[in-house]
Amino acid sequence: MKIQDTLTAIFQEKFGRPAAFLARAPGRVNLLGEHVDYNDGFVLPAAIDRATYIAFAPSDSGLTTLWAADFDKQAAFSPETLPAKTQPDGSPLPDWARYPAGIMWALGEAGLETPGMDAVFASDVPRGSGLSSSASVEMAFGVAWQQLGGWALAPMELAKLGQRAENQYVGVNCGIMDQFASACGVENRLLLLDCRSLEWETLALPEGVSIVVADTTVRRKLTSGEYNQRRASCEEAVRRLQASLPDIRSLRDVSVAGFNRLAGSLPAEIEKRARHVVEEIERTRQAISLLQAGDASRFGNLMNECHASLRDLYEVSCPELDVMVEIAQSLSGCYGARLTGAGFGGCTVNLVAQEYAEAFANALAAGYKSKTGLHPEIYICKASAGAGLL
Ligand code: ADP
Ligand code: MG
Repeated sequence: MKIQDTLTAIFQEKFGRPAAFLARAPGRVNLLGEHVDYNDGFVLPAAIDRATYIAFAPSDSGLTTLWAADFDKQAAFSPETLPAKTQPDGSPLPDWARYPAGIMWALGEAGLETPGMDAVFASDVPRGSGLSSSASVEMAFGVAWQQLGGWALAPMELAKLGQRAENQYVGVNCGIMDQFASACGVENRLLLLDCRSLEWETLALPEGVSIVVADTTVRRKLTSGEYNQRRASCEEAVRRLQASLPDIRSLRDVSVAGFNRLAGSLPAEIEKRARHVVEEIERTRQAISLLQAGDASRFGNLMNECHASLRDLYEVSCPELDVMVEIAQSLSGCYGARLTGAGFGGCTVNLVAQEYAEAFANALAAGYKSKTGLHPEIYICKASAGAGLL
């Protein structure tokens, strides 16, 4: 049974009346532009055909009552209980309810109406795998409150409020890419976001390709410390380069040629980190014309180069990610493979000729299992539309 149908059936059972609306918001995967968002660079994500769905209707009180079908758990809150992050009975909001409560809070802060709703929701975006299940929950509830509140926001504005919810209410320091891709996704297209200006456009995904996501199932701790160190290295690189290039504000402003001229003046580790960023931003620039020409093969090469750079220069890979990428790159039909997301575990993203996708997924899973003893999850995805009502 489709998730939507299950949700409307559960809604009827829980609330004793039919749901009035269905909302959907997808997860996302980033194809190119890794660790460049905080350097004012470009990212190239796609919304995927895995999403959070909500069956909902206005409640006749100010109260919002949610049923999380994936957990068989209920939670309730209202604008009055939001600041304390509690339910009306005084108990703390469970972690999962902080995402919908957070978007209600951020919408309220922006002066938008958030009437009470009854809702049942579930998702086929895997949780905590780096496909942004959290942003898909936020954007699905954003769209639901847009419907009940009777206002309309541009998708990017909704995305910004989702980011605010996650940063300030949930307390996770994420960039804008996840909510952006979930809100602004377009079927069969990649999204190109300029992380400095937040201007964006879409580019056609080359004909006849599938996006295959492979979860190593490895999750390293320590990630946030490593992440902060990488950010600090980039900032230090900018400070040092400013001695010769006083006009630069971030590594986005440094060309590859300019960087090569000055690289010798940087400490070795700072040079490696900054080189990844400068070259990765250049790769995303090259990707634009390759995608405009529909060149899957050369775009895939950029993905391969990105992985090598994340492994050798930015040093955010791990043995399992390297194994997954190495096997993928050896298989028929694979244009490109790389780790995606922050690194140290999580997923790889692969661009694969559609007719090979199924065989590729099977061979990748088998190869990874025999080399690591781990059972990977593999998802064959399509670039899909962003958040909206169904
Ligand atoms: P991800 O990379 O998937 O975004 P996060 O740790 O940022 O990982 O977010 C995962 C959290 O989002 C879950 O622990 C849960 O609190 C919430 N969440 C995601 N999907 C669901 C769902 N289907 N139902 C309830 N909560 C969800
Ligand atoms: Mg998340």
